[in-house]
Amino acid sequence: MIKINSNYRKLQSSYLFVEIAKRVAAFQEANPATDIIKLGIGDVTRALPPSIVSAFEAGVQEMGQDESFRGYGPEQGYAFLREAIAENDYQSRSAQISADEIFVSDGAKCDTGNILEIFDHDIRIAVPDPVYPVYVDTSVMSGRTGTMQDGRYQGLTYLEGSPENGYVPMPTPDLRADIIFLCFPNNPTGAVATREQLAAWVDHAHKTGAIILFDAAYEAFIRNPDIPHSIYEIPGARDVAIEFRSFSKTAGFTGTRCAFTVVPSSLQGVDAEGNTVPLWELWNRRQSTKFNGVSYPVQKAAAAVYTEAGQREVRAQIDYYLENAAIIRSTLQDAGYSVTGGTDSPYIWTTVAGDSWDFFDRLLNEAGVVCTPGTGFGKAGSGCVRISAFNHREKVEEAMRRIRPVLG
Ligand SMILES: *Cc1c(COP(=O)(O)O)cnc(C)c1O
Repeated sequence: MIKINSNYRKLQSSYLFVEIAKRVAAFQEANPATDIIKLGIGDVTRALPPSIVSAFEAGVQEMGQDESFRGYGPEQGYAFLREAIAENDYQSRSAQISADEIFVSDGAKCDTGNILEIFDHDIRIAVPDPVYPVYVDTSVMSGRTGTMQDGRYQGLTYLEGSPENGYVPMPTPDLRADIIFLCFPNNPTGAVATREQLAAWVDHAHKTGAIILFDAAYEAFIRNPDIPHSIYEIPGARDVAIEFRSFSKTAGFTGTRCAFTVVPSSLQGVDAEGNTVPLWELWNRRQSTKFNGVSYPVQKAAAAVYTEAGQREVRAQIDYYLENAAIIRSTLQDAGYSVTGGTDSPYIWTTVAGDSWDFFDRLLNEAGVVCTPGTGFGKAGSGCVRISAFNHREKVEEAMRRIRPVLG
């Protein structure tokens, strides 16, 4: 029989979401009249804004005429989109990133996993805890870890978030990792990193030779003018960081699929013979060989995000989610809970008395509201839950009315 990649056997089953679904289904069966409100999902709920839909439709029309039809596009993405990204997301914030350092893709999820391919097998990886599970699971799949013991994979370094550090783990002088995943605004905690905190990470990477993989999927939720949107707003970051971005949460593209990864031309690695190699060359080769680009109408739709109307519409949509977040945040705070996130992020993270599953059950059984137990994002998430602002206003308001008595 065929031998399998045994690293997959080390993966813990996605127990969390299966278990949530099971408990929700059981509750619904016992309470068929209850309208369950889900504040557990990391997916947007509002439709694509009109100017983005128009650009999308125009792109489809072009594909339907011989004169404007397009076949394969550049694997790295069309210049019109890469230039719009470089100008609006980077140069306008004094981050020196050029269009040819941007690789358009169909998702930040796949890019954060696939990027590990361009590094040696024996690299040491550090991941925040709690965090988006993709970094951990793809490290396991690619054989960079041992087995799970006591809630932790052997061989991975965990950067622990806690109420004390505000869920922004900082580098310690003894930290030795070749790859450091960071995610701000964070999923699940909603924490954001200040300029000084990011500068400390960039400095650490310079001193140790580490590469930072910075996931900024939620940057558009940042409203505090002092919080950087990109790691490249920090001087020197061009030499130590790769950044991942996505239109998923920022413009409602979770079902449309468009994202991008920034690999600065100044980033370097070393091969087995000791030769210096630009990481850009490797990622460019990887994408050219294994990827054939994002569909033309989707790239047209993504480019519309940067038009004046697109910017206005997208901002209004994010403001809507942020208002939901503010409602959730203040409900919890008024009940005496300490919360992280919910101001520059769609996620609200809170410490609960006791076990996260017990709190989950109480919200479900006594209020018909679904949240996400923190344990699903790492060991350090136990005793916490994530509440998401991705829902309709009336649902959020109704959910808060229902959970107030449960919060006590
Ligand atoms: C949702 C999310 C993404 C986006 O992934 P896509 O594949 O672009 O939809 C990336 N990172 C984090 C932390 C996320 O929560």
